[in-house]
Amino acid sequence: MLDILRRTIQEVNRAPDLPRALSIIVTRVKQAMVVDVCSAYLVDAEHRQYVLMATDGYNVDAIGAVRLDFGQGLVGEVARREEPLNLENASDHPAYVFSRETGEETFHGFLGVPVVQHRQVLGVLVVRHRERRRFAEPEVTFLFTLAAQLAGAISHAGASGEMNRLLQEASESGYALKARSGTPGAAVGRAHVVYPLADLEAIPDRTVDDIEVEVAEFRAAVAGVERDMRMMSARMVDSLAVEDIALFDALILMLRSENLVDGTIERIRAGNWAPGSLRDTIREHVKAFEDMDDPYLRERASDIRDLGRRILERLHSIHPVVPDYHADTILVGEEVSASQLAEVPVDRLKGVVSARGSSASHVAIIARALGIPAVMGIDDLPVSRLEGQDMVVDGYQARLFVRPSPDVRKEFQRLQREESELSRELQSLIELPSETLDGVHIALFANTGLLTDITPSLRSGAEGVGLYRTEVPFLIRDRFPGEEEQRRTYRQVLEAFAPAPVTVRTLDIGGDKMLPYFPVVEDNPFLGWRGIRIALDHPEIFLTQLRAILRANAGLNNLQLLLPMVSSVGEIDAALGLIRRAHEELLEEGEDLQYPRVGVMIEVPSAVYQVPAMAKRVDFFSIGSNDLTQYLLAVDRNNGQVADMFDALHPAVLRAIRQVIDEAHAVDRPVSVCGEMAGDPGAALLLIGMGVDSLSMSAASLLRVKWALRSFSTAQLRALLEEVREFEDPGAVRALLHSTLEQAGLGGLVRAGR
Ligand code: PEP
Ligand code: MG
Repeated sequence: MLDILRRTIQEVNRAPDLPRALSIIVTRVKQAMVVDVCSAYLVDAEHRQYVLMATDGYNVDAIGAVRLDFGQGLVGEVARREEPLNLENASDHPAYVFSRETGEETFHGFLGVPVVQHRQVLGVLVVRHRERRRFAEPEVTFLFTLAAQLAGAISHAGASGEMNRLLQEASESGYALKARSGTPGAAVGRAHVVYPLADLEAIPDRTVDDIEVEVAEFRAAVAGVERDMRMMSARMVDSLAVEDIALFDALILMLRSENLVDGTIERIRAGNWAPGSLRDTIREHVKAFEDMDDPYLRERASDIRDLGRRILERLHSIHPVVPDYHADTILVGEEVSASQLAEVPVDRLKGVVSARGSSASHVAIIARALGIPAVMGIDDLPVSRLEGQDMVVDGYQARLFVRPSPDVRKEFQRLQREESELSRELQSLIELPSETLDGVHIALFANTGLLTDITPSLRSGAEGVGLYRTEVPFLIRDRFPGEEEQRRTYRQVLEAFAPAPVTVRTLDIGGDKMLPYFPVVEDNPFLGWRGIRIALDHPEIFLTQLRAILRANAGLNNLQLLLPMVSSVGEIDAALGLIRRAHEELLEEGEDLQYPRVGVMIEVPSAVYQVPAMAKRVDFFSIGSNDLTQYLLAVDRNNGQVADMFDALHPAVLRAIRQVIDEAHAVDRPVSVCGEMAGDPGAALLLIGMGVDSLSMSAASLLRVKWALRSFSTAQLRALLEEVREFEDPGAVRALLHSTLEQAGLGGLVRAGR
């Protein structure tokens, strides 16, 4: 049984799509358990039904046609109880409902188990037996284990993307998907799918304009790869044995095989472009090899994959993909990167949809900085089938509508209009002071990284820069920028805001901010070599940057330095040593430069508990609530699986922040918050209640936060904080903040519309 289980799971994992995965399961289970029927039902959340999606034993016409309402019948009972149901005679059970389509009247024995993933029932696996039969415990656990594996396999095989498509295609209409997190705003537009160029599996489907040209390009690509192979083989002739050289001949034979070439051309003729057709052909071949019993032949699957990649590369070089962005582009991808986002002209980019990541991912931070709504973390996003589809991104409620109905579209267009009206009205706040009703001033600063951020930040009325992420200019280059190159970049930012302060954070790479030209491979990058740790281990990189920053400040004197990812005072002492050294060197070189104020980011739990010791060494603190939340809650900020647990309003995070502010104020050190929570109007109210001195956020959030803080007095915000203090979970905190804003007439800040 164990062996059957293992083989079935392997087969399911290799299945090219969900229907085939399910069909493998029902067939194998029926055989292994010697039952008369095995069926799989999947949840159609939108219609609140269970749909029969695969069966071995029932009438196949019933597939897609049998739909049971939630809670209905024995399938509903299994899903409701979230545990197996084992019945000797199904019709004796009170929940039993007879279904004519399946012809189930002749069956008695029933065993149903739920398919659960992330606490959600995705479906139900059912076996039926003609005779009365109570299933033995090993049989129950067999089905149970398979169902548990199926849940994982659905997402891992990438098959789950099919689920919504299949269910929705049955109803022909568009569909809605729930994301784990979103950044505020609503967008209506058309999908543009981005993918890593070398990854065949990530290639989306696209329609072809000229089939003959596409076929010719594909043939040319195959011929090119064949030439490469022959050259490789010729080069190796002296160093490899004859039988090893024969491997190249085998690859060339594979390349010429009718299946591979004709199979792809057939798919192109059916209307899919060459890369998409190649993807399906390669997938089919890989699967055929992986299914072989002979271990040597099974290994050939990787050769097929390699050939696929080579042909794909050739196709790209024959026909470079020159993206043509629609005027209302919604950028969609498995994992949209910051550079893919940066490639889209800003005036055409309307929304971002990423299957992986969360609202704390850097791509979401950049989207927010540009004022572009994004939804992140959608397990069942059928990325390869979304190219060119109309969609609506609802970043407030973290929802995506694919092929929205005219009503949904119209509603969101209305909301968009209202939002732009709201933003226009907010413009009137630019010149007004950022102070509470009782006149307490809270400085609002901008977070920047790209030089393109400067203009929106200045226009938003920011009183300076609270966080300049210097790794961004490093991330968009293909090598380390030199001292002079860095100086020029930093100078532009310092100059643009002078005499207002600009807080320049030293290089914070590692974790999810990896430089392509400085790869760091670690099992656990967020707990590894990050931020100040890299800087101290590489004084040559750090000193170059420090010299560039200090020199950029010449004559302006509005620089503040900020150190990232500090977890102990030793790091501060070492960093201060290097800052002093860079400064002294520059003085010796004849430059007349001021020594800047230096601050530390509080973004690691150990730093929360060392504020007094740190205060002896630095001038100010800035709370990085993104990382602080990640490390306090042990929730990876980029992991979509746990994105709904990532919440800066968690009472533990709020308590830590409050402690930092109190302890820093006790020794006269100002505190700013520069993580994403500073730009969330509700969270900002709480931070002001705690007495924070300044907030730094993306330019797009600044006027919204100003509107919020100008609507309350500090006494009201302190009272709000006291109320929140009693709360035990983040949901309650959020609900109170939303209702507070709504009651003050500021509901437009936390939902779509005005
Ligand atoms: C933070 O962690 O909150 C922060 C501001 O830094 P970054 O998002 O760049 O890691
Ligand atoms: Mg951080």
